[in-house]
Amino acid sequence: MTATTTMLILGASGDLTRRLLLPGIGSLIAGGEDSDLELLQGLKLIGSGRSEHSDDEWRQEVRDAFGDADASGDLADALVGDAEYVVGDPTSKDDFARLLEHVEGDLVVYFALPPSVVVKVAAVLQAIDLPEHTVLALEKPFGDDAEGAAHLNDELAKVVPEDRIHRVDHFLAHRAALAMLAMRFNNRLLERSWSAEDVERVEIVYDEQLGLEGRAGYYDGAGALKDMLQSHLLQVLAVSTAEEPLAFDAEHLRDALATALQATRVWPHGPVFPGTDRPSRRARYTAGEVDGKRLPSYADEDGVDPDRGTETLAEIALEVATPRWAGVPFVLRSGKAIGSPRNEIAAEFRPVRTRPEGQRGSGQPERLVLGFKPPRVEMRFTSGGGDMPFELEPVEVTGALPRSGVTEYGEVLRGILGDDPTLSIRGDVAVRCWEIVQPVLDAWASGDVPLEEYQAGSDGPAGWSAR
Ligand code: NDP
Repeated sequence: MTATTTMLILGASGDLTRRLLLPGIGSLIAGGEDSDLELLQGLKLIGSGRSEHSDDEWRQEVRDAFGDADASGDLADALVGDAEYVVGDPTSKDDFARLLEHVEGDLVVYFALPPSVVVKVAAVLQAIDLPEHTVLALEKPFGDDAEGAAHLNDELAKVVPEDRIHRVDHFLAHRAALAMLAMRFNNRLLERSWSAEDVERVEIVYDEQLGLEGRAGYYDGAGALKDMLQSHLLQVLAVSTAEEPLAFDAEHLRDALATALQATRVWPHGPVFPGTDRPSRRARYTAGEVDGKRLPSYADEDGVDPDRGTETLAEIALEVATPRWAGVPFVLRSGKAIGSPRNEIAAEFRPVRTRPEGQRGSGQPERLVLGFKPPRVEMRFTSGGGDMPFELEPVEVTGALPRSGVTEYGEVLRGILGDDPTLSIRGDVAVRCWEIVQPVLDAWASGDVPLEEYQAGSDGPAGWSAR
């Protein structure tokens, strides 16, 4: 069979490929639509890396990942059978030229590589003849700061046009993020109340129980702010705050998200976090037990330089200074080694303006929560009519969000293979997200914001609860 598209995964021996990319393809086979299966027809999967690896080993990895995703049948067999592994250094022009000899049809180059290597490969791609239809897929972080992201954009633009560059942020494919986009513009209740008029505060939180998990090489140079808030959680903020796009296509949706982020800035209006007037705080974990597992202090983890002061928990407050949202604090938070992790977008509504005499308040703000894990919607609203007929009481309702058999990475790959960048990050947005957090990074670098401590297995430093 002649392939119609080759997906060339650079860095295929790495963690991302094994844990997320190959299972993502498997999920498209197992749980995708007919159109997904068409996208995969004739796909040739080439894995590549510098370390020795045979075709058979690679095929076995693809087969295993498909098996884990319950992907079987003729299509899965064909993809496994056609897969190849080509050993080579992607930063070498000669090696890359040899790699291209194995490519058939259109080309998708997936950079599953450490970020420092990506710019070097982009330079190689500029110096080489690529198939006419070539698409690039990149992983965050996109550069180290706004300047680095802009430089990366310039280098990539010399290879292919912007609409064929997929900067991946799989949080845009999370059910909660997609549900946010669906609910805001299609739900009469929410459409009316989703603004500063009714919403008092929004928290976008993604905590996890996991500690460092041996990833000091990457994480100790990044920390929670760069790893989670600057990238994933800002994208979630954008889908939560953007104005309604004219259409859910690459041009209009991405314009709307970019405008929301252009209007986003570090909270300028005074205290948001109790006990401090700073709009950010940071902490790192000390030894403790999470979910029955003992974790050493972050500072004692292998490969960590404790003097670097890398935070494992970060909270920042932002304002989206648009007519819709000005004056509402958006708190972004993410932490590792958290005992009872929250993963959600939680909006708290303002109290009603007046209340008939004789009705006493429930004392609890009304809330809408869209949960990441498990994907769910929760509402707390004020009701009454129990034993005391005019006493108000909160009622909580929870429902599962529609599920999909396709994983977030399956969704990402659907966009990449289908040449649809709607859910990928545009170059200007990659730069903007660095600009938004730069004042926080500067404040931290100047020592203005203390690095606090929390015990692994707790929910953060005492008095920090964002709830
Ligand atoms: P790894 O650190 O596992 O590296 C992937 C592969 O890159 C390695 O197996 C190695 O293969 C190759 N490589 C490493 N150094 C070099 C070098 N100097 N020159 C050429 N090739 C090199 O990365 P991950 O798989 O964890 O991540 C890949 C990308 O995805 C990163 O940008 C990361 O930030 C991003 N990402 C990762 C996630 C994850 O969960 N892992 C989640 C979200 C994003 P070989 O030695 O065979 O050449």
